[in-house]
Amino acid sequence: MIVQIEDYLKAGKIAAEVREIVRVKDWIGKSVYEICEEVEGEIKKRGAKCAFPVNTSINEIAAHYTAEPNDPITIKDTDLVKIDLGAQINGYIADTAVTVCYDAQFDGLVQAAEEGLSNAMSMIKTGVKASDIGRTIETTIKQLGFKPIANLSGHSLDQYTIHAGRSIPNIWSIGGFSLSDNSAYACEPFVTTKEAGGFVRNGQIKNIFAINSRKKTKNEEADRLLDFIWKNFNMLPFALRWITKEWDEKKARELLDILVKKKAVQAYPVLIEVNEQRVAQAEHTFIPNETGVTVTTRAP
Ligand code: MN
Ligand code: MN
Repeated sequence: MIVQIEDYLKAGKIAAEVREIVRVKDWIGKSVYEICEEVEGEIKKRGAKCAFPVNTSINEIAAHYTAEPNDPITIKDTDLVKIDLGAQINGYIADTAVTVCYDAQFDGLVQAAEEGLSNAMSMIKTGVKASDIGRTIETTIKQLGFKPIANLSGHSLDQYTIHAGRSIPNIWSIGGFSLSDNSAYACEPFVTTKEAGGFVRNGQIKNIFAINSRKKTKNEEADRLLDFIWKNFNMLPFALRWITKEWDEKKARELLDILVKKKAVQAYPVLIEVNEQRVAQAEHTFIPNETGVTVTTRAP
């Protein structure tokens, strides 16, 4: 039973407002660094903290890319960009995403992700089986002539925890759980082309991190960074950009490397479609109830 429903709703309202700004803005020619900083600024300006670094995953990169400090990668008019953002109030998270695209030939992919999500939201109430949500998403996407990404899924949320143990699949799968009353979940269909494998693999790049353990590393400076991370981000993901405001970039990379090697911090690889086909995504955070659902990130 959630005691902090108010915080979930506040975070949701802020995340939704920012997502709608992101959706209509012309990002062509902007660097991913500018986008991440601007979107994170919009979240903070509204009184929330970022629940994780804004993700700007382009084309065949499905998820988990955030800008490096001063990252020069720039949005082109042929790019399909998934902008995934999170706001949190006292650790209660709103997780939402939109795909922006300026080339009409990819509108269908974006539409399929949005329709998969909205059909899923229409069926939510307490007790609905996650596997049935997956079936709805899969059917919707396939009927529109596309393919869902089978190994990416939505998830339950908890205070300071983005992936709280339960998965909301994007395909039909056997077994699974039923949605609980007044628990928070994220649903996030990922859509790719018929020619795609319909799976993601880990890429080489890792620029999103999160604390694994607060055990001391015996390196004084690294332990100081670990403390800083815990105080500022708790268990939530962070980016190097968020550290270089306090630490010199070269030093920060060095220390972060030590923390990763000591397994105090985990590094998350980018996720890439196996056939390097383009991927679109849409995402909402929601709380089921006996008669339906509160979509905390519904558009204002
Ligand atoms: Mn997300
Ligand atoms: Mn999510």
